[in-house]
Amino acid sequence: MGRVVVVGAGVIGLSCAVRLLEAGHRVDVLARDLPQETTSAVAAAIWYPYRAWPTDRVLPWARDSYGVFASIAADQPGSGVRMREGTEVVAQPSGLVREKPWWADAVPDLRETVEVPGGYDGGWTFTTPLVEMPVYLDWLAGQVLALGGSITRLNLHGLPVTGHGGPDAVVDCSGIGAKFLAEDPSVHPVQGQVVLVEQVGLERWWLDSAGIEGPLNVVPRSHDIVVGGTSVEGEWSRTPSPEVASSILRRALRLVPELAGAEVLGHRVGLRPARPEVRLERVGDVVHCYGHGGAGVTLSWGCAGEVAELLG
Ligand SMILES: Cc1cc2nc3c(=O)[nH]c(=O)nc-3n(C[C@H](O)[C@H](O)[C@H](O)COP(=O)(O)OP(=O)(O)OC[C@H]3O[C@@H](n4cnc5c(N)ncnc54)[C@H](O)[C@@H]3O)c2cc1C
Repeated sequence: MGRVVVVGAGVIGLSCAVRLLEAGHRVDVLARDLPQETTSAVAAAIWYPYRAWPTDRVLPWARDSYGVFASIAADQPGSGVRMREGTEVVAQPSGLVREKPWWADAVPDLRETVEVPGGYDGGWTFTTPLVEMPVYLDWLAGQVLALGGSITRLNLHGLPVTGHGGPDAVVDCSGIGAKFLAEDPSVHPVQGQVVLVEQVGLERWWLDSAGIEGPLNVVPRSHDIVVGGTSVEGEWSRTPSPEVASSILRRALRLVPELAGAEVLGHRVGLRPARPEVRLERVGDVVHCYGHGGAGVTLSWGCAGEVAELLG
């Protein structure tokens, strides 16, 4: 037990802070951007292991997180987490054998679907956590405070130094910021743009993760629907493009015709913190936990549990 500074107040930093507080540590979260200002706040967010590696570590993290989200959905009505059925559609040349996705073991009710919208050859239907991030991040931050932790805005120019009056350990959950804080050149942005439209009574989610024109997802929330998106390697801009928004909506309409006429409520851009592999390792008194790409929400509880284990 000791004093731990967690750098970062996105979904990874806050989840790690919760698990460390539960383990009896004193935890202070320091972050340049507060939860609602992070990339995490832009996420759709659907449980789905997208753009995160290596699969042998990602799968158990994803499976653990699925279980925790299912419990939160059942026990915490104000958390913004709901379990919802939906379909991932697949387009592939006919004649190919459709293999189960590599993450199939992590979801309890995955089944093949043949009735899909035009332009697709089949799909997978399953129940998955939908995490309404603006609500969930407030709930998660509330958990940190309720457990005795603190969250403070601070722009760091390097990771805090441990010992000599500093913390006993540091957990680096700085997302894309790890490029500079951890001096890790392999961290890079994968820009994603989404359009928020009015809720038109949609209950099911839809996903086309491998669309030729980019990934596409339609994720219903309580008061709106997140329609995404894009996946642009190496792009640092956070400015939404009107042309990209039109293209996203055009593609989404083909998949979910109920969206026709839905009022556009807003536009968001986030930078997925990508890396060839998620970095979750202890180096001396520092635990690095970043590089979750397009799956930070999906992996959050699994990774947070492992971080807490590494600090004993
Ligand atoms: C459009 C879009 C859709 C997505 N959809 C999904 C989805 O459906 N499901 C899913 O699982 N994932 C999704 N993701 C991915 C997910 O958002 C990320 O993987 C996740 O948010 C990463 O969380 P994080 O806490 O590591 O980083 P962030 O949320 O970026 O948080 C990083 C924190 O570190 C802090 N920090 C950085 N540098 C410094 C510094 N120098 N000093 C102090 N603090 C610093 C930041 O201020 C911030 O608080 C999506 C992403 C995008 C962009």
